[in-house]
Amino acid sequence: MKQQSQNFNDCFDPRSGLVPIAEAEKQVFDQISPLSTTEVVSLPKALGRVLANAATSSIDVPPHANSAMDGFAIAGEALPSTDTKAFKILGEALAGKPWHGTCGENQTVRVTTGAMMPKGTDSVIIQEDVTIEGDQAIINPGHKAFANVRQAGEDLKRGEVTVDSGTKLSPAELGVLASTGIGRVEVFRKPIAAVFSTGDELMNAGETLAAGSIYDSNRYVLMGLLQNSGANVINLGVIPDDYDKTLEALSSARKKADLIITSGGVSTGSADFVIKALEQLGSIDLWRIAIRPGRPFAFGRIGDALFFGLPGNPVAVMVTYYRLLQPALRKLMGEHNLHPTPVLKARATTPFRKKPNRAEVYRAILSRDELGNPVVSSTGQQGSGLLSSMSQANCFVLLDDSDTTASPGDMVDVQPFHGLI
Ligand code: AMP
Ligand code: MG
Repeated sequence: MKQQSQNFNDCFDPRSGLVPIAEAEKQVFDQISPLSTTEVVSLPKALGRVLANAATSSIDVPPHANSAMDGFAIAGEALPSTDTKAFKILGEALAGKPWHGTCGENQTVRVTTGAMMPKGTDSVIIQEDVTIEGDQAIINPGHKAFANVRQAGEDLKRGEVTVDSGTKLSPAELGVLASTGIGRVEVFRKPIAAVFSTGDELMNAGETLAAGSIYDSNRYVLMGLLQNSGANVINLGVIPDDYDKTLEALSSARKKADLIITSGGVSTGSADFVIKALEQLGSIDLWRIAIRPGRPFAFGRIGDALFFGLPGNPVAVMVTYYRLLQPALRKLMGEHNLHPTPVLKARATTPFRKKPNRAEVYRAILSRDELGNPVVSSTGQQGSGLLSSMSQANCFVLLDDSDTTASPGDMVDVQPFHGLI
């Protein structure tokens, strides 16, 4: 990567000096290479991990035809078409307890849901439609052959790829793998993320606040975001605004971590030592990204470790995380076929004011109006330091570089928080 802190030429917009967010997203994403190391873990430990090799089923699922209902199993061709017909009840099959005989034409076996279909049967009449007289089941005409039976392999076929490599395993995939008898899987190792906050003003929660200080909130936000994304996090505390200490902290972090994430200290203020230290230790791109909240943002490398320098303002930390860091982390963790996070349209009930030539991300509340249509309202003040707005919101409203202020009644793009991670 080029040294580029004085020179924004790759994606520099000469009119504003700002990098469009889409350009920044692409540049970061393209420079990430997936981790290659894998490990084998048991299925309960595999939640949220990324599968390294495609899984194939060695069996049909379900493995045998079975009843979908409680009822009576018969041969479909023996079903009455005009008159009521009696079938002799030979026995009972339960889920996990098959009936081992063979059912003849005018015979039936009582079955419960999940019971293996007895030999000679292919249809189930639900028990509510059957009258029992002694050892006879009386069945009316009008039933369909093959009804209420789940066929072998109708969920998954033997030899079929059930979960692709590069899939992040959700509860559904754990179940799919378990249904084919797989109890251990090979997954990519978790990346290690070292997190620092920077700033002389920062104190730790639990300490007594000194005059002019604030509590560090970014580190807690970032540790939560990274854990939710599936990284192992090393909490490296606060680095003061001091060049030597910044240098020392970053050079020790690079030995422990795949990625180093700092917040604050990446603007061009005189107390912003992160960029200077990065220039000394590795390579760094510093961008003023045309998104609010968000700029500035730094991306680089120290040895083998990736470096992400996020802004200091807490809401900007979250926005840049979602836009730039999370996709990079997913790629690093071996995920393929990254689906973009869903964006839907909702009618604004409050204005969303914006300046031209930059994207804006607003904290908002998505709900439904009296007709059930999606509507979205701002949480109020949108300052990039107002972290409480993130906690009140359940979605972002996204306005693009080219959009203008949205007025009440306009349809706007909404990105619900649920499903972001
Ligand atoms: P900076 O980019 O370092 O100039 O910080 C921009 C703003 O974000 C300043 O008001 C900082 O006090 C604030 N800030 C920086 N780091 C944190 C943090 N870890 N927690 C809360 N606020 C922060
Ligand atoms: Mg600072």
